[in-house]
Amino acid sequence: LNNAALLANSRLHRDGHAFAQLVRELGAKGYTPATSSNFSFRLDRDCIAITVSGRDKSALTEQDLMVIDLDGRAINSARRSSAETALHLQIYRQLNAGCVLHTHSLKQTLASRLFARQGGLRLQGYELLKAFPGVSTHDLDLLLPIVPNSQHMPDIEQAIAPYLGREGVVPAYLIENHGLYVWGRDMAEAKRAFEAIEFLLDCELELLKFQSH
Ligand SMILES: [Zn+2]
Repeated sequence: LNNAALLANSRLHRDGHAFAQLVRELGAKGYTPATSSNFSFRLDRDCIAITVSGRDKSALTEQDLMVIDLDGRAINSARRSSAETALHLQIYRQLNAGCVLHTHSLKQTLASRLFARQGGLRLQGYELLKAFPGVSTHDLDLLLPIVPNSQHMPDIEQAIAPYLGREGVVPAYLIENHGLYVWGRDMAEAKRAFEAIEFLLDCELELLKFQSH
């Protein structure tokens, strides 16, 4: 192992436990049905730790994490990460992100279907918008983009690229009939953004029920 690999390993050792705990928490809440979803955090400039494919996320341990570089090559591992790894890497390459969470919750899936036609969901005037980094007022209107689903990751990468890091867009996006990607500079920030999105989707879905009667 060279120096960089050793440093990445010690970082994995230091933060892997808290990270696995966060993943288990999200799994236990039903956000990752049927071994779906995947999660990652940055170890250094060139490496991330990511969940291996096909694990039950409510029982995830540090042993279910693997290290890859920003081109997706496994480091010291013969295991494989999910096909969706490319979407994590796009966020790390294009933004100053330290943690990416990808989930398939009921609300995320419903909202992605209901609001896909308008290309995204406008989140307007909510106090909870202040949960997103850099936001200090409720008095604004942020976009949660929604892009079409595909089994060919470059299609999704291309669809979301223009929105990443853009002003007026939350650090998250929905994939239609699929789920959510959300990120932050570190685990705590990603978790806070995740919780805000879940709550705001709840509000929007409930509002829709009242409006249609
Ligand atoms: Zn997925």
